[in-house]
Amino acid sequence: MKCPKCGKNISSKVSCCKHCGTRFVRKSDKLAKKMTMDGRIAMACGGLLMFIGLVVFLNGGRLWAAIIFALGVLLTFIGKKMR
Ligand SMILES: [Zn+2]
Repeated sequence: MKCPKCGKNISSKVSCCKHCGTRFVRKSDKLAKKMTMDGRIAMACGGLLMFIGLVVFLNGGRLWAAIIFALGVLLTFIGKKMR
């Protein structure tokens, strides 16, 4: 790959240019960051669903509470796997 600043050829494995010292974000880093963020969103949604499930349970809707709660647990689990 080429350095975005000085245009010289550099290894794609390094995170900064050895010619001009420019640091740049590699695509894999960006992807990893995005995955982490999505994981957090999934975990937040899962937590919210578990809370809603608890509220529904307290209001007597046991079947719906179980379904919503299970979805929340699943989402939280997926979110944790993404990190
Ligand atoms: Zn450079």
